[in-house]
Amino acid sequence: SEKNYNMVDAPEGYVGEGFFATKLSSVVGLARANSMWPLPFATSCCGIEFMATMAATYDVARFGSERMSFSPRQADMLMVMGTISKKMAPILRQVYEQMAEPKWVIAVGACACSGGIFDTYSVLQGIDKVIPVDVYVPGCPPRPEQILDGVLRLQEIVKSEAANRRGTQEYDDLLKSYNIN
Ligand code: SF4
Repeated sequence: SEKNYNMVDAPEGYVGEGFFATKLSSVVGLARANSMWPLPFATSCCGIEFMATMAATYDVARFGSERMSFSPRQADMLMVMGTISKKMAPILRQVYEQMAEPKWVIAVGACACSGGIFDTYSVLQGIDKVIPVDVYVPGCPPRPEQILDGVLRLQEIVKSEAANRRGTQEYDDLLKSYNIN
């Protein structure tokens, strides 16, 4: 019924008497958004906050992301948490490239977003120097609620993203524009 459809997080569409019409891309987006497997790339303090985000009190599993993957092949949400040195940058880039499409990136904390307090010769001044970032979560460190907020914001992007945006020439060109300095 209409009432039942309104109770679930249904994709945008038309609700009628006993039926619901929508687009395939909306259904794909909804499924993708609610089953993102994180790959935690944690190098320092922000990683500790991620442990809290995973644990029972904050419980990222509520949003379909309880299945951690430490293999890039089986993850679609790269979460970069911590200070990334310039020596680490090529490895981060390689991990990103090893992930299968579709894939998304969250920069968690000031260091991943911009280098944070480490404005120095050895630290990458933001991971978006080497890989594309979908969501930036500020803070030093961000609280678990902020990290969850980042996941939810990414879900909104994923839901509204056309199923075939990735893999286009435009997207390939964007990727090529990211060079390791
Ligand atoms: Fe540590 Fe702050 Fe950098 Fe997070 S943003 S890794 S808490 S120094």
